[in-house]
Amino acid sequence: MTARIALSSPDITEAEIAAVGEVLRTTSLSLGPRLPEFERAFAAWHGAAHAVAVSSGTAGLHLAVRACGVGRGDEVITTPLSFVASANAILYEGAVPVFVDVEDDSLNLDAARIESAITPRTRAILPVHLFGRPAAMPEILDVARRRGLAVIEDACEALGAEIGGRRAGTLGKAGVFGFYPNKPITTGEGGMIVTDDDGLAHLCRSLRNHGREDDSFEHARLGYNYRLPELSCALGLAQVRRLDSILARRADVARRYHERLADLPRVARPALEIDGGRVGWFAYVVRLHGGAAPGVRDAVIGDLRGRGIGCQRYFAPLHLQRHVQAVARHARGSFPIAEAAAERTIALPFFGALTDAQIDEVVSALRESLGRHDAGVV
Ligand SMILES: *Cc1c(COP(=O)(O)O)cnc(C)c1O
Repeated sequence: MTARIALSSPDITEAEIAAVGEVLRTTSLSLGPRLPEFERAFAAWHGAAHAVAVSSGTAGLHLAVRACGVGRGDEVITTPLSFVASANAILYEGAVPVFVDVEDDSLNLDAARIESAITPRTRAILPVHLFGRPAAMPEILDVARRRGLAVIEDACEALGAEIGGRRAGTLGKAGVFGFYPNKPITTGEGGMIVTDDDGLAHLCRSLRNHGREDDSFEHARLGYNYRLPELSCALGLAQVRRLDSILARRADVARRYHERLADLPRVARPALEIDGGRVGWFAYVVRLHGGAAPGVRDAVIGDLRGRGIGCQRYFAPLHLQRHVQAVARHARGSFPIAEAAAERTIALPFFGALTDAQIDEVVSALRESLGRHDAGVV
């Protein structure tokens, strides 16, 4: 069932439609001129030396993990509270995701717990800027520097986020973005690796195109087909040109939710502003306060969906997923903060074109539903 008020919606204008249409009038549908144009625009917006476009955020994470030299049996420290792709990118290389619990406030990797999880097999740290809120990068970079580990930022949810005046995704050895249609900008499917490391950029360009170094059939290494087609690059380029206004509209919607949810005591709102940084609004995810029974969250999601309001639980803990358990067993209760958060989060409809009336409708449906379940319905 499609929701009357969608959970997310891409921000597409006539400029994007024209840009895609133009590509169809050419004979260059892959590896054409839009690819470097999109990459250069994305790199420039981030103040990064290189941007390498790929076919998805997951493909970007996979190449970043591989290009950082992570291999079979190696360990990568990461968060258990994320979209599954951040752990899968590690698993693809036969490496082991080593989870450490999150901070209760930010829901991001707790930097204070990283050191004790490091072993002689640890190669990298892969923090995720969850829901656009930057992870504790100064602390993470500090541990990584002291212990000689690479940092790969999963910035797929953090376009426009900032840490100490720098864009999320530009602080580690590599940062990865995703352009699935629920992200702030979309290419249909797509992703981007951002790095200042010339060698890493070169290697990722080769890996995304069958391990090629040139257009011959001599292959320097095992590669993949993770190319991003010209149609997607043209769409992405048009989106990057509007990026500041797209992000500003999303921040405005977050601000309006924040105001309207102020008098719902059972609902913990995401921080609108943070010390030393800026949130890049990917999703608007509230948490029901600890007093609410875990079943209330699912009942509330059911109520909102019943009224045509798109919403989602974000996310189920990664350490409890079956395919992750097959590699590293974790009992329930291993990462209590992530597990408790995962039972209480609700992502509300969130996109730049959300109107005041729609925000009011979502908030009053939430208020009504919580009131009902508070009274003992669940
Ligand atoms: C969206 C997302 C990705 C990438 O997803 P794709 O669908 O492969 O583009 C990776 N990590 C996180 C945390 C994400 O939210």
